[in-house]
Amino acid sequence: DTDHRAEERPSASQVLLEAQKELLDYKGLGISVLEMSHRSADFTKILNSTENLLRELLYIPENYKVIFLQGGGSAQFSAVPLNLLGLKEERCADYIVTGAWSAKAAKEAEKYGKVNIVHPKLDSYTKIPDPNTWKLSPGASYVYYCSNETVNGVEFDFIPDIKEAVLACDMSSNFLSKPVDVSKFGLIFAGAQKNIGCAGVTVVIVREDLLGVALKECPVVLDYKIQAGNNSIYNTPPCFSIYIMGLVLEWIKNNGSAKAMEKLNITKSKLIYDLINESNGFYVCPVEVKSRSRMNIPFRIGNNNGDAALEKTFLDEAAKLGQFCKDSGKAGRHASLLSAVP
Ligand code: PLP
Repeated sequence: DTDHRAEERPSASQVLLEAQKELLDYKGLGISVLEMSHRSADFTKILNSTENLLRELLYIPENYKVIFLQGGGSAQFSAVPLNLLGLKEERCADYIVTGAWSAKAAKEAEKYGKVNIVHPKLDSYTKIPDPNTWKLSPGASYVYYCSNETVNGVEFDFIPDIKEAVLACDMSSNFLSKPVDVSKFGLIFAGAQKNIGCAGVTVVIVREDLLGVALKECPVVLDYKIQAGNNSIYNTPPCFSIYIMGLVLEWIKNNGSAKAMEKLNITKSKLIYDLINESNGFYVCPVEVKSRSRMNIPFRIGNNNGDAALEKTFLDEAAKLGQFCKDSGKAGRHASLLSAVP
């Protein structure tokens, strides 16, 4: 079972085979990365090469720090306000809420300062509200959004044009799925587990001049200035996850970099969207065409709310094909359906 799947997933299998090869004896050192001290010269090399690959793939400008943290995207929902609200006296931030994850981030930020949702509350998360209608606050320290809402399948096909405040973005589920102009952002964060590795490590890319204004209640492990100043080893980083990320980044580089990933993602998502569009309403995607995600595609079967019997049949048949992880009820794993759709 695993063998035939590996052939169909060249990226995953190549990275995993490489990790397997090096698991017991990393580059002839006689120990595994799992056993290494995070302060050893060998791990420092892994950390630095992972950072350099990321800098190369995303053309990250010199005046940005790259840090590797624990706590997942959810910890960043707190870290962003804790580190950035202090940029202006008002301690206020603007949020664009287009789905479940940006809603959670906004709720977390409310613990630390004033949060303004820049558009009227959406009845459903199926579109990006027109930027011409956004009401930005003059005193906002930052404007926050999630570039790809994993649960709802809503993806920005543009970078918001924000002049008065710093732009902060959760790219957890479309990071490196396409090129991105980092210089338009004050801060980008992304958990590795969707596109660039396994759970345990979250990348933060932050402009240097924004460091040093963390609120006093900011936990030291979430303080970007302290983590950046210590090359991400203020405390023990998720070493093995960083190593795996390095292998994935190398794979991306060897396979055409971010531009090629974009092409691949357009092709793969088009397969499903074409099928949905041509199904005469049998498959229904609630998201407006312009904001449809290339990464995760929510759809119902039979009607807008989904016909329970038909959806069960679909999942049963897909499981029989051996392509769909049956116990994955999460929209974030719906990309698996790419190969399940007949
Ligand atoms: N942001 C987005 C867009 C996500 O998809 C997720 C998780 O699926 C998160 C944040 C939360 O990440 P974590 O589970 O690593 O805390």
